[in-house]
Amino acid sequence: MKELHTFGWYAARTKPHLPKEAFQPVPTRLFGGLFFLILTIAGIVTISLFELHPLVSLVISLILGGSFASLGFLGHEILHGTVVRKAWLRDFLGAIAFWPLCTGPKLWRKWHNMDHHKHTQDEELDPDAWPTMKKLAESAVLRWVYRLPLSVRSFFSFSFLTVTFTAHSLRMFGENVKTFKLKKQPALWLQLILPWATWIGLLVWIGFSNWVFAFLLPLLIANFIVMAYIATNHRLNPLVEVNDPLANSLTVTVPKWVDVLHFNFSYHTEHHLFPGMNPKYYPLVKEHIKTMWPDRYHEMPMGRALIALWKTPQLYHQKSEFVDPRQGDLYHSLGNGLDPMKNQYRKDEEG
Ligand SMILES: [Zn+2]
Ligand SMILES: [Zn+2]
Repeated sequence: MKELHTFGWYAARTKPHLPKEAFQPVPTRLFGGLFFLILTIAGIVTISLFELHPLVSLVISLILGGSFASLGFLGHEILHGTVVRKAWLRDFLGAIAFWPLCTGPKLWRKWHNMDHHKHTQDEELDPDAWPTMKKLAESAVLRWVYRLPLSVRSFFSFSFLTVTFTAHSLRMFGENVKTFKLKKQPALWLQLILPWATWIGLLVWIGFSNWVFAFLLPLLIANFIVMAYIATNHRLNPLVEVNDPLANSLTVTVPKWVDVLHFNFSYHTEHHLFPGMNPKYYPLVKEHIKTMWPDRYHEMPMGRALIALWKTPQLYHQKSEFVDPRQGDLYHSLGNGLDPMKNQYRKDEEG
């Protein structure tokens, strides 16, 4: 295995090649957010007030789902401080952007900025990492799930991507609420309750069938979009002792127009080097990484990454491999022999 380096090590070597303005907050990125906010409000109002053909409502739902996801991507970067620096304004704007996904800024900054970024792919400390054999031994639910064949598990785990973000966010709230000082807990609760109250209030106001198109379906679509990135950003990579973004992250590639809609969220390795940087400059960071460490960098088209994910059991074995506990088949991870074009595995000879 190659020697691992921290994200600071890579950042220090890349930063001299980048312009200073890449690290300035850019409030004009809010115009993109305003566009998706207007789409969201207009879509919900249209479904609420007019008797629409279900097909028309479905099209509006798709647009709403895309807008919820895009707002979430902008919320992510706002809460990293790339748009404004004032803490109260950053949290206020982040709260609005994350309103459809019902995730409060205080919780997000703890779960994502503190835990996920500082401890990426650490089997104990990264809340977004997949479980290990040790966790399997501790959990009766996981043991039951892993008795199912890989194809059935993949089918269900891909179907569950439509709810995974929301479910994980609620779980993160439950796990983190006690770590906040008593003084900060009312704000934390309010940031959870207010968005949900809005959406439940909407249900009461417009009735169930309209609400399905105005909120529920868009929420499922947005969950799938954000999870398609989150699941492929790290989960084909190994668990690591050192938080090395070139070893533990994958940049997926998507068409340019998708990058525009998703605020360059696809550049995830670059994001882990410079979480507070204006994402407009991530393609430039990518160029420098590929010049300096071409053999360490991982990138893959999004579709191929999703197919590789489908074919890979979601359980780590000794950090750098995945294991299907049913037959003991071992699968490679990125940088450790994974070939996304093949469904490669070998038998676990140690048993
Ligand atoms: Zn990440
Ligand atoms: Zn981030």
